[in-house]
Amino acid sequence: MSIRYMSIKDTAPVALAVKDRVEEVLARTPKGLLINNEWRDASDGGTFDVENPTTGETIATLASATEEDCRAAMDAAAGAQDAWARTPSRTRSEILRRAFDLVQERKDDLALLMTLEMGKPFAEALGEVRYGGEFLRWFSEEAVRDYGRYVDSPEGNLRMLVSHKPVGPCLLITPWNFPLAMATRKVAPAVAAGCTMVLKPAHLTPLTSQYFAQIMVDAGIPAGVLNVVSSTAASMVSETIMADPRLRKVSFTGSTAVGKLLMKLATDNVLRTSMELGGNGPLIVFEDADIDKAVAGAMAAKMRNMGEACTAANRLLVHESVVDEFVAKLAEKMSALTVGNGLEEGVTVGPMIEAKARDSIERFVTDAVDRGAEIVVGGKRVEGPGYFFEPTLLRNVPRDARVIREEIFGPVAPVITFKDEEEAVELANATEYGLASYVFTENISRGLRIGDRIEFGLMGLNVGVISNAAAPFGGAKQSGLGREGGAEGIHEYTTTQYIGVESPWA
Ligand code: NAD
Repeated sequence: MSIRYMSIKDTAPVALAVKDRVEEVLARTPKGLLINNEWRDASDGGTFDVENPTTGETIATLASATEEDCRAAMDAAAGAQDAWARTPSRTRSEILRRAFDLVQERKDDLALLMTLEMGKPFAEALGEVRYGGEFLRWFSEEAVRDYGRYVDSPEGNLRMLVSHKPVGPCLLITPWNFPLAMATRKVAPAVAAGCTMVLKPAHLTPLTSQYFAQIMVDAGIPAGVLNVVSSTAASMVSETIMADPRLRKVSFTGSTAVGKLLMKLATDNVLRTSMELGGNGPLIVFEDADIDKAVAGAMAAKMRNMGEACTAANRLLVHESVVDEFVAKLAEKMSALTVGNGLEEGVTVGPMIEAKARDSIERFVTDAVDRGAEIVVGGKRVEGPGYFFEPTLLRNVPRDARVIREEIFGPVAPVITFKDEEEAVELANATEYGLASYVFTENISRGLRIGDRIEFGLMGLNVGVISNAAAPFGGAKQSGLGREGGAEGIHEYTTTQYIGVESPWA
């Protein structure tokens, strides 16, 4: 099997029209810190560079927030909170709806920035714009329907009013792998609930968030409601802002290790926390599965975002009676992928985010092979520029291999076999993580039975992509706390208040 490589450092004529606009879109992307709706330089004039992982070249230089800047952002958020909480929900809803429309109008710019700073192919970046944009539309609808309740106490002595109030100023911290969707999935419900916020994007991919923040300003977000502090000093940002007694909540998406640090930090001021953390998702293929469907699902669940997704199928668990057919068909699909620059037509797999990530994937593969795994497709890094790794399919992988026990975060698919349903469930649950899982069987009763027994917050039944703004997204076990999206999402940003009123009949 061979993989076709497109030229990575491209000098050929531009294949996609957007490529002509790289300089212009980069020039229009704000480079400063957003505080009180003004883009400003860092207090010490400090900056950091953003690199394109496809070429290794610097594409932009941004202000890097200092402690003083973080305090200014927190002052802005705290100062705007009261008026924002009193702003009618219809006004908040309409700002989100306008932002949704602007995201559609500027979708090519956003997708271009994502491909440039993160590496995902342009078509996938457009997919993220669609998905990420939906949080703005969904929460514009949720903003005006945050119902409470009014009920008599059982004893008849009280009328009980239960309502939701904005929790207060929030710190939102996002990862690099979905630079738009991870921001909108937090900003939209916070805006809908009436919270003000400080957003800290990942320093590897801040440009999309900077551009999105300008969209929120253009959509009419009042000064101080959304502040953005890009910075390379991530722990300084969280320590400074989380020490401020006016902060009420931290919402974090990223690795479990950093999530645990933030949870510890949150104890001092008893902050509300939402934690969307790492995963080690199983994809189970039963002997009664439609194998073509399972292969399509595995391709989507494994290869989306080059495998750099918390929802990625990390372990492919396949019934021993169908493993040969499954592996042969998956190998054919994986071999047909095209690795290269995501701005070239036909490219389906971009680079890893940085050299460190590519090297870590290489170590995962070496470890598996050293323990006896067989390489069916790929298996090697692609020499630079850029941080590419071949789509890789491994079979006969020992269960103690690191690819089975740890989050791979790359385009490597390890296959292991099981004998029966009991063993499949046991293998699936044999991890401290509990985010996304996938099950392929044409027996729906069996599928639902697995749903009952599997310790994961999300499960796809005969489908490899299940993320949707209307669904509650989140993990069990060490994959996190809380839910983003769905009817649940807004309540991560509200606090429940009960007012007991003397009954007129008492
Ligand atoms: P990361 O934990 O390294 O970084 C995430 C964010 O935290 C970034 O903004 C980073 O700058 C910041 N950060 C890093 N160290 C910090 C510290 N000490 N204090 C405060 N902030 C700090 O994760 P990443 O590499 O950006 O993202 C990959 C991880 O995110 C994977 O584990 C993946 O599974 C997870 N993820 C989870 C979800 C989900 O919804 N559950 C979604 C996407 C990614």
